Amino acid sequence: MTEQVETHEFQAESRKVLDIVINSLYTERDIFVRELVSNAADALEKFRHKSLVEKPEFDAHVPLEITIDCDDKKHTLTISDTGIGMNRQELETNLGTIAHSGSSQFWDQLAEAARKDINLIGQFGVGFYSAFMAAKKLRVQSRSWDGSEGHEWESDGGGTYTIRPCPGLHRGTRIIIELKDDAHEYATKFTIERIIKQYSSFVPFPIKVEGKTVNTVQAIWTRSRNEISEEEYTEFYKFIANTVDEPLYRLHFSADAPLGIDALLYVPKENYERLGMGRMQPGVNLYCQKVLIDQHSENILPDWLRFLKGVVDSQDLPLNISRQTLQDNALVVKLRRVLTKRFLKFLKEQAQSDAEKYKTFWQTFGIFIKEGVTTDFEYRDELGGLLRFASSKSDNGALVSLDDYIGRMREGQSEIYFINGPSRTALEHGPYVEMFRKRDIEIIYTLEPIDDFVLNHLGEYDGKKLVSADRADLRLPPAETGTTEEQAEDEKKEALETDKVTALCSWLREVLGERVQEVVASDRLVDSPAMIVNADSYMTSSMERVLQANAQEENLTMTGKKNMEINPANELIKKLSHLRESDQDFARDVAWQIFDNAMIQAGLLVDSQQMVSRSYRILEKVAEGD
Ligand code: ADP
Ligand code: MG
Repeated sequence: MTEQVETHEFQAESRKVLDIVINSLYTERDIFVRELVSNAADALEKFRHKSLVEKPEFDAHVPLEITIDCDDKKHTLTISDTGIGMNRQELETNLGTIAHSGSSQFWDQLAEAARKDINLIGQFGVGFYSAFMAAKKLRVQSRSWDGSEGHEWESDGGGTYTIRPCPGLHRGTRIIIELKDDAHEYATKFTIERIIKQYSSFVPFPIKVEGKTVNTVQAIWTRSRNEISEEEYTEFYKFIANTVDEPLYRLHFSADAPLGIDALLYVPKENYERLGMGRMQPGVNLYCQKVLIDQHSENILPDWLRFLKGVVDSQDLPLNISRQTLQDNALVVKLRRVLTKRFLKFLKEQAQSDAEKYKTFWQTFGIFIKEGVTTDFEYRDELGGLLRFASSKSDNGALVSLDDYIGRMREGQSEIYFINGPSRTALEHGPYVEMFRKRDIEIIYTLEPIDDFVLNHLGEYDGKKLVSADRADLRLPPAETGTTEEQAEDEKKEALETDKVTALCSWLREVLGERVQEVVASDRLVDSPAMIVNADSYMTSSMERVLQANAQEENLTMTGKKNMEINPANELIKKLSHLRESDQDFARDVAWQIFDNAMIQAGLLVDSQQMVSRSYRILEKVAEGD
């Protein structure tokens, strides 16, 4: 017998998780019970599914349930289930390794997060190991549904575990926990019952503690809405999302056509991806008549809705559908479309009825809506309506929608304008916004680098083109009549004469050489001497910035064609026109400095070394002249 005992080392990642679990999560140990019970429930669901599809014979009579026994003399806690079980190989892969292996940075973040928020354990699927918070030693006895011989896995949470044959088992898994000296309370019935009620009351199988069933089995999503209390909804969310938080939004709906659906979807409070936790797994489970078909389903919602938690039940799906065929199943495709449309409509309604709350949603999950715009053409219009931005007409921190914007468009205006920049202040002091201010046209401020990609993908909204204000071919409606018109007249009077402007432009083009495609007199600058505009309609300065940052790593240069517009009414431009006749060298320095300044205002890269030496030359000249 002894020679059949094999000793294995834990995979390196597993050891790290074990260390984190054992050392840093000491305070909220209760949750290990929830983790083991939820594993037992998963195993039972899997068996229930198997038994419907494959009709296994081995131990077919054994009822589906979870049994918990406490021995407060020996200080052991035993959790048994009659679920799918594990064979020898499965014990090794499922309990000795972690599927979610990642970079070492990932583990550091996990350690950090685990210190701050216990709920993250569940999110990372390190559930089983949480038993070591309370266990001195852990034995897992398991026999697979296929009837192959049973085995026992054993470990004290150090570097190794053993696996040996264990005859005489029924189907399922029994976990025997020898409790640490300071964790003896978990061998009392009272404590275990309390924890089950708190965390596991929705488990759809009987949980028997010392022979008595302590949970009530309820698939609340198939009940009618007015029969379900707020508390039940929230409790169900906590169960399904493996959290202690309350949800931000909840959508419970049923449909009969085009196919029968009961769905209960929740938006959580936190976005763990934003906290640097790596990519989220989808959080919605697919059921058919309360039988789990696809856990964390990747098929029933688009990828960009992976932040949702909940259940979807459709009685029209065939029970024996396999995970592989789900993807191509026409009903599933239909289901996905209905769910997505319904959820986006729900968000729109929420935004209308409580803008403040929607703003919270937007700040936490807006990035997923943007991801949707850039990846999913099918829902473009709905998604476009959910976007929110700062704008020249949004007061302190308020956000506007594209519909708000359209409602305020000036007569004769047919396009939606936007400009990217690091902050509202930077944008309002830069050259791109001044012409909009003067014409009283609203302009959207896209403050995230990704925003220009998003709006470019969107292309248009409600029939109105989305146009970046740093485009060379921008044509704004004229300023409104009245005072602004008069101002324009004033400016014209003071401006440099046309022939001088033409000459200056071609001289500048010569000086700047390859760096610009064209230099032209601007009809949109108000105060600033110059600005950079993009001649390629698909490129904005912000996009170029993002591309350049990536290209630098690969030693490429990524630049779109640039034009420089100059302002003939600006004092510096007027002086430059004279200067280039009296002092060529100095004038060239000034020209380059104007160009670099405009590049900086466009958020684009300049050669800082050259710029510094040049500006010293200019300063020297100025100091001399005095
Ligand atoms: P997760 O539940 O997120 O997959 P866990 O660490 O909780 O991660 O469990 C790891 C794996 O061990 C499970 O995916 C499952 O395959 C297996 N497992 C754990 N407990 C049981 C059980 N009671 N019955 C069968 N398999 C189990
Ligand atoms: Mg688990």
